[in-house]
Amino acid sequence: MEHLSVSEAQRVVLESAVVFGAEQVKLEQSLGRVLAEEVCANRDLPPYDISAMDGYALRSADLGNIPAALEIIEDIKAGDMPTKTLAPGQCARIMTGAPLPQGADAVIRVEETEAKPDNRVQINQAVKPGNDIRRLGESMRNGEVVLTSGTEITPGVIGVLATVKRAQVQVYRRPRVAILSTGNELENLDEPVDPNKIPDANSYALLAQVQALGIEPVLLGIARDDPDELARYLKRGLEYDVLLVSGGTSVGVHDYVRPTIEALGVQMLFWRVAMKPGHPVAFGKVPSANAAESAGTFVFGLPGNPVSSMVCFVQFVAPALRRMMGHARIHRRTIEARLTHNVKHQPGRTEFIRVLLAKEQGGYAATSTGAQGSGMLLSMARADGLAVLPAECNGLAAGSMVAVQLLDGMVFQDDAGIKE
Ligand code: AMP
Ligand code: MG
Repeated sequence: MEHLSVSEAQRVVLESAVVFGAEQVKLEQSLGRVLAEEVCANRDLPPYDISAMDGYALRSADLGNIPAALEIIEDIKAGDMPTKTLAPGQCARIMTGAPLPQGADAVIRVEETEAKPDNRVQINQAVKPGNDIRRLGESMRNGEVVLTSGTEITPGVIGVLATVKRAQVQVYRRPRVAILSTGNELENLDEPVDPNKIPDANSYALLAQVQALGIEPVLLGIARDDPDELARYLKRGLEYDVLLVSGGTSVGVHDYVRPTIEALGVQMLFWRVAMKPGHPVAFGKVPSANAAESAGTFVFGLPGNPVSSMVCFVQFVAPALRRMMGHARIHRRTIEARLTHNVKHQPGRTEFIRVLLAKEQGGYAATSTGAQGSGMLLSMARADGLAVLPAECNGLAAGSMVAVQLLDGMVFQDDAGIKE
């Protein structure tokens, strides 16, 4: 089986990718990690009925005639426990977060009141029972599951973990990732510009794609198109959990990645996928000698063309890494957008078009970022997303709806600001 559809190839990758084991980290170091345990509330919160406002705790039945004057019998601050029970005609001054006294069934905020002499307050508005009270357990109940395994640890999740007093949390281990570029023509970032060479973009674009997932990968450098040199580099790469090799995966006579990698014991599960860009993309694995300690090495042979390499990363590598990291959500979010122009397409391969997205009435408009050659990295640098043209489609007319996989920049926008 060599020539799979994108979804079939994705299935092959995800069926092989195993979730890694867990490790313990300090709460302060857990941002971006993935919870490897279920987390339960360790008490009721709030622990009793508390005031939601600075104001007066009172008996709502006392407010039959407004304005009403009440006697203040106690001053309850956050952290205090009330000591008195309200009788008819009485109230207690209360601060946000302080427990309600016995007898009170509502709170009125201070803005609706006027201080009067002799420890009295005039209430200018009636309230219903329960007004401005936060009920015992309304935020969380003791023993309730508040976070499930597979949850990405965001600042909000950290707030919840601190609330349930988790100074240490169990998170999934992150795969160790190595990146290798191949090709005689490649020039390293720190080498002087040579007009006869091609700058190595893939090492760095892939590095950043991996970093964006919260993993710090290792760059192995550039291997020349020479079977011995390639074998030496690939061997080093196979010491990692995941190896990304770009270039040399097609059928040219100097594309040595396939034979070299197979000679090193990598079992290839596919070599070709019906996609554009990214046709010569390969995936395989080396079974682990010690399955208890490691799942072995997963190897992705990515196309040399920089756009192809990045698009293949989005389709195959990122979901695999997210699965290994234990994420419950492994697929990129897709939105429907309206194409602003015609798009040609030869049936046969799923095509990914780099697009800019613009908000419009009722949704988004998608416009190509320009020339779409698989070597034209600017088409990727400018893109908000990848519009997906299904393999069987005959092209799409302007106005058609198309699925767009969102790329990293889509969380923020230029015209910031909340609309109220
Ligand atoms: P290959 O897959 O090795 O046949 O390479 C396809 C094209 O991608 C060629 O034009 C290569 O020069 C180019 N290419 C390969 N590797 C890289 C890289 N690391 N950075 C930029 N371009 C590359
Ligand atoms: Mg090459």
